[in-house]
Amino acid sequence: MQEIILIKYGEIILKGLNRHIFEDRLVSNIRKAVGDGARVYKSRATIYAEPQEGADVDALIQKILHVFGIVYAVRAAVCEKDLKTIGEKVLSYINLTGKKTFKVETKRADKTFPLKSPEISAEIGGIILEKYPHLAVDVRNPEITVNVEIREAGAYIYADKIRGQGGMPTGSAGKVMLLLSGGIDSPVAGYMMARRGTVMDAVHFFSPPFTSEKAKEKVLDLARILARYTGGMRVHIVPFTKQQLQMKAKCPAEHLTILMRRMMMQIACRIAAESGAGAVVTGESLGQVASQTLEAIGVTDACATMPCFRPLIGMDKEDIIAVARRIGSFETSILPYEDCCTIFVPKHPTTKPRIEKILESEALIDVEGLIQKAIEETVHIDV
Ligand code: ATP
Ligand code: MG
Repeated sequence: MQEIILIKYGEIILKGLNRHIFEDRLVSNIRKAVGDGARVYKSRATIYAEPQEGADVDALIQKILHVFGIVYAVRAAVCEKDLKTIGEKVLSYINLTGKKTFKVETKRADKTFPLKSPEISAEIGGIILEKYPHLAVDVRNPEITVNVEIREAGAYIYADKIRGQGGMPTGSAGKVMLLLSGGIDSPVAGYMMARRGTVMDAVHFFSPPFTSEKAKEKVLDLARILARYTGGMRVHIVPFTKQQLQMKAKCPAEHLTILMRRMMMQIACRIAAESGAGAVVTGESLGQVASQTLEAIGVTDACATMPCFRPLIGMDKEDIIAVARRIGSFETSILPYEDCCTIFVPKHPTTKPRIEKILESEALIDVEGLIQKAIEETVHIDV
């Protein structure tokens, strides 16, 4: 073994009694992410991933960094536990050119090693200074910290820490159902909820032939991007053409958006309940469009049969876009597409709907029949 990956997780949230559940889940999620590319185990508040012979370490790190619950990961060189070898390895593995100040930090887990941690740091510091005499030791604010860990299996050497996603391990916070469109917002909302540890399914409404096969593929691509973080996701694809056409034919135009959103909410809640989810999630942000005013959200929520979380509610579009870029969904989200919502959108949607008026309009259609029909025709795709 030439290199090993060290994985650190949040220590504050670990103080409670659930510590072991959290750790075991994280280890098993990391195992699932790396497959047989690495052997994963835990020891003293660190998780180790030992790459298999010939494994692509960069690719492994990328997979690991997507797993929720990891604060940071480091890629470390592994060598024999003697000072001379460690010194040589530090000089060949850590890039010190262009640096002015450094410090060495040692952890000695293997107490049989003859030198104590500060002594090891001093020795290795000496070796570095011999080769780079212009460098200075700065223990307070060094440009680079050379870490040495002396463990049973060998000495580990590393410098850079790579930030992970943070959050809680997937599976530690129940299950939710994301309403996933092809836009920018809903994948970000899904990411934010999933980061808190929820398992996630998604429901997508599409209206063929008004929306294309391509638009559906794009949504599946977005689900695949989210699945890199969550380990997998089931997408429930709901055909929504008949429902929309019936509303358009029978209900006042200005109510169409809100009626459609109420029907989407009810269908999503039922699919969520059937799949064991305890909440639905949308990408709404207050005031962004007509259906996202306080009044419209209130009227939509009135038909929800479980909590609806809107993690983006207080965020500006720019903040949302920044997250979308970071998580890798932005480029896919901005591909041109049609959404079923935009196709039947009225010219002058009500922005302050009143529930009594909306219920009157709703009475003009067979809500229950349309919901049943949609659920019957739903197809389920695992990504
Ligand atoms: P997004 O960028 O996520 O598409 P948006 O700003 O376009 O959001 P709306 O079209 O009003 O806003 O949709 C608000 C929310 O409703 C979306 O974030 C998503 O959660 C849900 N939604 C909209 N269209 C669909 C759809 N076709 N299938 C499933 N959910 C949808
Ligand atoms: Mg949208």
